[in-house]
Amino acid sequence: MERVIGIDLGTTNSCVAIVEGGVPLVLPGPSGQRAFPSVLAIDEQGQRLLGQTARRQAVLNAEHTATALKRLLGLRFGHPQVRQLSEMVAYRIVTGPSDELRIVLRNEQFSVTELVSALLLDLKKAAEAYLGQPVTRTVLTAPLAFSDAQRIALRDAARMAGLDVMRIIADPIAAALAHGIGTSEHRAQRVAVYDLGGGTFDFALLEMSSGVHEIRASTCDAFLGGQDFDRRLLDYLVFGFAKDHKIDLRQDRTALQRLRDAVEKAKCDLSVDEEVTIEVPFIISTGTSEPLHLHRVINRAKFEELTEDLVERTIQLCRGALSEAGVEPHSVDAVIVVGGMARVPRVQKALTELFGRTPIGGVVPEEALAVGAALQGAALSQTPSASTTFELSPHHLGLLVGGGKVFRLVSAGTQLPYEAAHVFTTARDHQTALRLVILEGDSELASECKILGEFVFSGFLAAARENTEVEVRFSAAQNGDLTVTATDLREQRREQHTFRLTASLLSSETDGSKSPLGSYELETQRTDELSRNQSRAEQLISDILGMLPKAEQAVAGSELGLDAMRRARSAIERARIAIIRGESVAIVDARHVLERTAAMLRGVTASLR
Ligand code: AMP
Repeated sequence: MERVIGIDLGTTNSCVAIVEGGVPLVLPGPSGQRAFPSVLAIDEQGQRLLGQTARRQAVLNAEHTATALKRLLGLRFGHPQVRQLSEMVAYRIVTGPSDELRIVLRNEQFSVTELVSALLLDLKKAAEAYLGQPVTRTVLTAPLAFSDAQRIALRDAARMAGLDVMRIIADPIAAALAHGIGTSEHRAQRVAVYDLGGGTFDFALLEMSSGVHEIRASTCDAFLGGQDFDRRLLDYLVFGFAKDHKIDLRQDRTALQRLRDAVEKAKCDLSVDEEVTIEVPFIISTGTSEPLHLHRVINRAKFEELTEDLVERTIQLCRGALSEAGVEPHSVDAVIVVGGMARVPRVQKALTELFGRTPIGGVVPEEALAVGAALQGAALSQTPSASTTFELSPHHLGLLVGGGKVFRLVSAGTQLPYEAAHVFTTARDHQTALRLVILEGDSELASECKILGEFVFSGFLAAARENTEVEVRFSAAQNGDLTVTATDLREQRREQHTFRLTASLLSSETDGSKSPLGSYELETQRTDELSRNQSRAEQLISDILGMLPKAEQAVAGSELGLDAMRRARSAIERARIAIIRGESVAIVDARHVLERTAAMLRGVTASLR
């Protein structure tokens, strides 16, 4: 029988796995490595390079090397995240005729879907080379925060790579499956999934029992990850070097890239060793004297001090999500970690302190998602109908109630199949019919939701309002059929109608971005994002103001330092103006400048300690 491959398309690295003899196996690439860098480049000869080869030449060919493509997948040019990312990467992102994204490599324009499809094809080929047979079926994983449009783009990319997508499962569910949670043998379990990768942080609280997997709460920060930890270490070294030699290493691209690589390696080594030596020989030539070398010993305690607030921020996000769900951290049954950064001992310690239990081991954190996807693929291919399946309800579902409001019965992210019910009374005495309007959408206002369907439930006996009880039950099947049953509890009379959930997951051809609901969702997302960015910016302003006096004292007399202080003050000013005006794009920009400024100030004060 043809195998199903599980694919985790990561921002930095991707991973592919299969199940062999019931055991998941992560597949190696051509040079034996299990992580496939999600990088694509075009070299001077016009040749396409992928994975490790593309990553290796990235420094020298940065302008024509596409990285972090997952962050752009399914987005329009005007999306704030596109602007943020375009400041972080060296390749050009331009807009096509209808606001779609195009990436320019060696003067040729590509769609993001096309480039992601090349990455997926590379993973498909690696699997075929390992298995010695063609592979066409896959289960993919995607972040919970992915919108309909992003999922559609992912599916399209896979299709372009010749892959038939059996299912897209949510990252935290894949992680739980990889750890053997969520199979029917287990009792209901509350699972916390902490995912800290190279550039993003995600947290989800799941409630998993036989066949029903609910996302109770989730949160994310699309710009918090390993690279922020690297930057802290980098700034520390840059300012230390500037202090010793009066040279700003950031002005030299090659020196900076060499330092970046050294810093990332040091960070990884510090997960095991208590102390590391960072050595970059001949890092810069001054022109007049001998080239200079960088040599610095860093211990774990220093690294933890430089990055303490980053770890703390992830913990605060977890706390926020848990408290929103009304769940005490100590009542969580299992803690799962995903992503390379989960290996950092301080992260593990912070999680142990928060949940009162150590994260479960046994699965390599960077491979958990691909393993979960492969397990799901194997289950689907063996017993498609009986297998536990894991698609999510993509929108909140509810009923129209008084005042044009929505009474929510099912939250977005609830695992299919599910059942949910609520008992309603009539609005007036002696009412003998009830109009049930089923709404789909994220707003509490009915006018802002999509009407999935409606029917009139009538014929029950006239009675006083409080004596009429009608139970409305939503039963969603795996195929996306939603059966709504209204039952008069006094007479036991019932009526049933079936509707179809609107979901890209269930009908991949629907273009969510074109439907009114799609654009509404985008707006909601933007508002949430705006308030998140604004409060982060405000927090950063207060952090920076707290650090400035000490930093100014520390750099007194140094030109590099004075310039840095000037920039810090102007960053605060710009951010304040953006916040006052409520300009979302400007706030996002300002937040990023503030992040860099705060990191720089930490570097200044730490290097002079
Ligand atoms: P991922 O996105 O899951 O591939 O995670 C990538 C991030 O994990 C990068 O920032 C890596 O530097 C980081 N990482 C990988 N291995 C380790 C390690 N052993 N210790 C600390 N960080 C690591």
